[in-house]
Amino acid sequence: MGIKIVSRYGNTLKEKLYLPAVISGLKVTFSHFITNLKDTSKIETICYPEQLPKDITSRYRGVHRLKKREDNSIKCVACYMCATACPSECIFIEAVEREDNIDEKMPKKFSIDLLECIFCGACAEACPCDAIAMDTGIFSFVKTKREDFVLDIDILLSHEPMKGGN
Ligand code: SF4
Ligand code: SF4
Repeated sequence: MGIKIVSRYGNTLKEKLYLPAVISGLKVTFSHFITNLKDTSKIETICYPEQLPKDITSRYRGVHRLKKREDNSIKCVACYMCATACPSECIFIEAVEREDNIDEKMPKKFSIDLLECIFCGACAEACPCDAIAMDTGIFSFVKTKREDFVLDIDILLSHEPMKGGN
């Protein structure tokens, strides 16, 4: 079997010092620094949270919302498909019989524990009625108490779809 011996880099004193390589790296860093100092329009970073990202795609999976029908009634029919599909088991639904003849059932209680949610989107995928979505664009959800991360039916119904997603 032919073995190729590769000579080790760094035989000369210049190479052993590493200083020229360090200086050449610093030259690149410094040139970028000067370029960005003159023109900040090409800098991709933002000063979060003072500045918020403006280019969230509509496919971004944010905090959930429950959708409503045109008559403002809840679209969910309490079929438990989302809760069954949820790998984190963080969706809790309590169903009641519906009396408006639109469907058989509706949720009396519907809550999602965001501290357990992994934002996988399986609930929205599993819903046969397109009643739950994650298109709110809400990516930052800061609270001080653990219980505030459990979103109830009223909060979920109050969320709106994101405007102007790309
Ligand atoms: S996004 Fe995933 S983990 Fe979160 S509630 Fe939906 S199915 Fe469960
Ligand atoms: S949100 Fe969809 S999948 Fe979940 S219980 Fe309601 S109708 Fe069923």
